[in-house]
Amino acid sequence: MIECEIEPKNAWSEFLDFVQKKCSVTEYQNWFSPIKVIQSTPDGIVLEVPNIFVREYIMDNYQDILLNFLPSNGEGEPSIEFVVGGPKKEKPKPAPKALPAKSSSSFNKKYTFDNYIEGPSNQFVKSAAVGVATKPGKSFNPLFIHGGVGLGKTHLLHSIGHYVETHHKRLKVKCITTEAFINDLVDNLRNKSVDKMKRYYRSLDLLLVDDIQFLQSRLNFEEEFCNTFESLINQSKQIVITSDNPPSELKLSDRMIARMEWGLVANVVPPDLETRVAILQYKAAGKGLHICNDVAFFIAEHIYNNVRQIEGAINRLSAYSKMMNIDLSIDSVEKILSSLFQKNADKHISVESILKSVSAVFEVKISEIRGDSRTKNIAHARQVAMYLAKELVTESLMKIASNFGGKTHSTLLHAWKKIKTRIDQDEMLERQIGMVKRGLGY
Ligand code: ADP
Ligand code: MG
Repeated sequence: MIECEIEPKNAWSEFLDFVQKKCSVTEYQNWFSPIKVIQSTPDGIVLEVPNIFVREYIMDNYQDILLNFLPSNGEGEPSIEFVVGGPKKEKPKPAPKALPAKSSSSFNKKYTFDNYIEGPSNQFVKSAAVGVATKPGKSFNPLFIHGGVGLGKTHLLHSIGHYVETHHKRLKVKCITTEAFINDLVDNLRNKSVDKMKRYYRSLDLLLVDDIQFLQSRLNFEEEFCNTFESLINQSKQIVITSDNPPSELKLSDRMIARMEWGLVANVVPPDLETRVAILQYKAAGKGLHICNDVAFFIAEHIYNNVRQIEGAINRLSAYSKMMNIDLSIDSVEKILSSLFQKNADKHISVESILKSVSAVFEVKISEIRGDSRTKNIAHARQVAMYLAKELVTESLMKIASNFGGKTHSTLLHAWKKIKTRIDQDEMLERQIGMVKRGLGY
């Protein structure tokens, strides 16, 4: 521990500078930006945080690091007093007369937090989901989870439902796909029972909505959904939504998009190699299948952007090893799974696909990457996109540069050099680039 000689407020800004270099822009914006220093003395610091999750997150993840910046309170902890502040919420209105709580649950019990394997790609989204499940309606509302197919969005959604049903027995929970919501609405319109349906949805304590992208171009249903949404949020009732794209990229009304961005928007990206191996071994063990490390790595290296495909591979291996009593070696596995393995060789990468993947990982809009803004996170995302375009796209530099809103090829080269020299020294950057590449199917 370094003895703290600097004034705590400065120490806090030094800590923030340090953290900013270590964590992703999203992480920083979600957890650190909302914190306010409300008092600082040589003995410690008082911080205002918007909710207790921020305090827990900081203390769980940064306690030791903070000791390098702030004095200790004598119990080995940094001397920080947290005050939970944030916008005052309206006193929740009593819910409309509740219909009897549904006893049969509307979610898949197979999906729980306990069997959701955590890694750098999903840690943030998982802790947000756990935060919401622990204190529904009191932290991020709505929680909006987006990401590609087979990355565990539905799993997390149902885990929240399962947790709440077990730990908050009095709360009324409904988990529904967007398709089912629309069908429900159609049925109720036909039976002239829409008011009853509205009352039911508005009496929920937790509404979990899967695959909101299916609400796109369903104008009539969108309005009803938006009304339900607002009614629940106004009563501080929790909403969690999943989607294949972030709110800003959905073709929905501005009103709906703004509502979905009210709370926390969290992205789930394909897991890294180690996490894929962990998922693989966990799922294999569940099927009584033993896969040794070498073979597990071999499989995970070839199936990289979808957890559902990993499950498919295990099912196939399990069937083969049971029916034909085959020993699972690299050679036999390669034969059995060859049709599932993803191949890089003949992949054609376009600037468009790079922009899409960079935009998802860095959470900036494609139009911003193409634009001229010098805002730090946008300029950084742009440079990463340019670096990857030069590395992966087989077209002239001039042609590539013109795809970035008409930039010159010297701008492209400058960005490429900058990222190339940083990549070896900056672990976070290396990881982010790895995520973008996996988004491209690498
Ligand atoms: P999505 O809704 O994002 O398309 P799902 O939630 O349906 O994906 O996940 C696909 C399958 O992969 C499910 O069986 C789920 O249990 C599994 N899965 C995804 N991510 C994980 C994870 N991190 N740990 C364990 N299983 C996972
Ligand atoms: Mg799903």
